[in-house]
Amino acid sequence: MNLEPAALKQMVRVVLSTRPDEIGCDECLDQLDRFVEMKLAGKDAAKAMPLVQDHLDRCRDCREEFEALLEALRALS
Ligand SMILES: [Zn+2]
Repeated sequence: MNLEPAALKQMVRVVLSTRPDEIGCDECLDQLDRFVEMKLAGKDAAKAMPLVQDHLDRCRDCREEFEALLEALRALS
C-alpha cells in the first residue's frame, strides 16, 4: 500500500472528524445529482444539504465523483 503524506493526513482527519450523523458513500451518491443541480443553479447546496457537503469534504472518492458530475453538467449547459 502506497500512502502519500496527503492521503495519510486525509485519513487521520476522517477518523478524527467522524460524527454519528454523517452519511455514507451510498447515501452521498444518491443525493449527489441533486446537490450538483443546486450548485449549477447558483443555490447554496452546502447549506441545503450539509451532510452531502460534509461527506464530500472527507471522502475523496465521492469528491472526484462530484467534480466529474459537475464538469459533465457544466459542459452540457
Ligand atoms: Zn464517499
